[in-house]
Amino acid sequence: MSRALSALPTRADTPATFLSAHPPSWNGLLEALPEPTALLDGDGIVHYVNGLLTALTDYTPGELIGQDVVILMPERLRERLLRTRRERPRHAVAAIWNDEDLTIQRRDGQEIPVEVTRSPLALEEGSWVVVAIRDVSTQRANEQARADTELRFRVAFENNMAPMTFADANDRIIAVNDAMCQMVGFSREELLGCDSTPFTYPDDVGITESTHQRLISGEVEQVRYVKRYLRKDGGVIEVEVSRSPARDADGKILYFVFSERDITEERALAAQLKHQALHDPLTGLANRAFFEERLAQAHGRVIRHGGIGAVLLIDLDDFKGVNDSFGHFLGDHLLTAIAHRLQIATRSADTLCRFGGDEFLYLAEGLVSPKEAEVLAERLVSVIAEPYNIAGFQIEQHASIGIVIWDATCTSFSETIQNVDAALYEAKRNFRGHHVIFTPTMHQAAVSRFSLAQELRQTFNAGDLAMHYQPIANLTSKEVVGFEALMRWNHPDRGWVSPEDFIPLAEQSDLILELGSFALRESIREASKWASRTRLLRPYVTVNLSAHQFLDPGLVPMIKMLLGESALPPEYLILEITESVALIDIDETMKVLDQLGILGVGVALDDFGTGFSSLSYLAKLSPRIIKIDQSFVRPLDNSDRNDTLLETIISLGQRLDMTMLAEGIETEAQFRRLRRLGCELGQGYLFSPAVPSDQVEAMVTRGFST
Ligand code: C2E
Ligand code: MG
Ligand code: MG
Repeated sequence: MSRALSALPTRADTPATFLSAHPPSWNGLLEALPEPTALLDGDGIVHYVNGLLTALTDYTPGELIGQDVVILMPERLRERLLRTRRERPRHAVAAIWNDEDLTIQRRDGQEIPVEVTRSPLALEEGSWVVVAIRDVSTQRANEQARADTELRFRVAFENNMAPMTFADANDRIIAVNDAMCQMVGFSREELLGCDSTPFTYPDDVGITESTHQRLISGEVEQVRYVKRYLRKDGGVIEVEVSRSPARDADGKILYFVFSERDITEERALAAQLKHQALHDPLTGLANRAFFEERLAQAHGRVIRHGGIGAVLLIDLDDFKGVNDSFGHFLGDHLLTAIAHRLQIATRSADTLCRFGGDEFLYLAEGLVSPKEAEVLAERLVSVIAEPYNIAGFQIEQHASIGIVIWDATCTSFSETIQNVDAALYEAKRNFRGHHVIFTPTMHQAAVSRFSLAQELRQTFNAGDLAMHYQPIANLTSKEVVGFEALMRWNHPDRGWVSPEDFIPLAEQSDLILELGSFALRESIREASKWASRTRLLRPYVTVNLSAHQFLDPGLVPMIKMLLGESALPPEYLILEITESVALIDIDETMKVLDQLGILGVGVALDDFGTGFSSLSYLAKLSPRIIKIDQSFVRPLDNSDRNDTLLETIISLGQRLDMTMLAEGIETEAQFRRLRRLGCELGQGYLFSPAVPSDQVEAMVTRGFST
């Protein structure tokens, strides 16, 4: 600059004289300057410009020299500048480019950010100003970019929904965002300068320290971990943390960035989902999937350590009746109550599971003997049998139990559930309210039952089931007064299959309803023809109803419809129900009986004496006929005691004004005994087994000679 100054105008020079005297040296001086430069006089008039300035502004020297320097200012600023000059003429030059307006406008109108250095030269002939104008557009652009980045980062950090923390190399917090403060419940002021200890659950403090070491040692570049945070309000949350270091060019750690996520709800939800996947929503017991898992483990334990294990399949007897008569709401309550009782009665280390609608599975481990499983089963049966009081209803519920027992010699457990089902089937078939232990023959039986059930459906669909009719005789007159309709299935390979075998199969599905309506339709249709053929006496028909059928709300309307379609007077139709069916839900039974009574249809109580009915129920049901079960008619011993029993039953029915009918009379002696005891009606092979309908007429006409 000193070289330049020496060439500056002297006091003797006026601008004009100076210009004319020194143009080359000014030019040379200004050209030599490393920045775009102009020489202005005190009024702001341009006297010189260097090449760099003309290059920057795109003006030629001629266009600038002699012009007011405002030509280089953006038009929007000129007016203010000129006003300042007018008001403060002495500051004409100083007013140019104040700090806010650091831009120039090129010839083409484009604005460029600049930095301006004004060097006043106070000479005698006036004030001069050397104005150096530096193009800072690149620098500004860089600054702007940096500011933008910083802003973006700040916004990303501050407003991030994810809690974030910056900590120095010693894990002291240097910045936290709002989300982090909210998550831990501490203010920013409380957190800054601390490490994470104040908001870390005491047991988990070591986690942060160990991750710190791993990052410091350079073993990893990022760590993720889960730890518990202790909120300021004392709440504990689970947080997933991702932590990475920011390093300088030499690899030294500058600070750590923590990004955290509160996963408390997510974990709770996952745990809940897992629980839901493995538990029954109604009772909260384990579900089938869970049970099977536990079963496999239990089996493995027995093989390794010996001992005995057992699976008990507990099935509620006729539970459908509860649902049908009290509704599902109450049914659900009953199931929950039963589940609760079972839970109390069993060991918590064992597994209790709701297997399906009204079935529970219990896995008992560490048994000493099979007997223990039986004792357990008996206990569960009696625990369930205690009466329930639900929503003001007194309900009794019984259960049957199938049992599979295994020890270390059993290599396969995959059929356990299948086998326990087979055992349950036996339990239900023979002794409801009891238990049966699985034996291999049951498996075979289950398989053949399964195929039989399939065939039954096919046979039914093919229309190959038939109704046969067993005569009911008046024991005094020996006339045929009625017929019991009994279903018949003539199997191509097995011959006659007993309804005792196939009716229970059908009862396991809705097929029983189809079979039941078939029996009713067929029997009503046949019986309606009997009057015209058998002139002497019109026999009635009795039709057996299953539990499902009796409790089906469609029953009464169907009977009404069938009677309407036929010529059978309603009183010639008698429906047989067993005591146990009648007692599933006595109130509902009474309703159905009332409706049947209105239709004029009669009811017979079948297999009387085998159930548990009390006298009060008998009086309440007031059936037209009581069918005394075969076991009383053909007792194992013909003792006096049995006679007394039979006599009591008969006189009881008579006193209640019901017609007594003895089932299963096979011998003359039985016949005579019954007649002697005053039994009015009888049925049995002594008279005839069930016959096809075309033999009915002859039988009525003939009567019995016995
Ligand atoms: P149930 O209603 O007690 O029918 C009487 C059963 O005793 C019939 O057996 C009949 O053939 C048999 N029986 C009759 N007299 C004698 C005899 O003197 N000695 C012996 N030992 N048995 C005799 P069946 O036909 O095998 O029927 C068995 C059970 O199947 C019936 O018992 C009934 O509960 C059920 N059943 C039959 N047909 C139907 C039906 O259409 N619907 C429903 N729901 N159940 C039916
Ligand atoms: Mg019957
Ligand atoms: Mg019977």
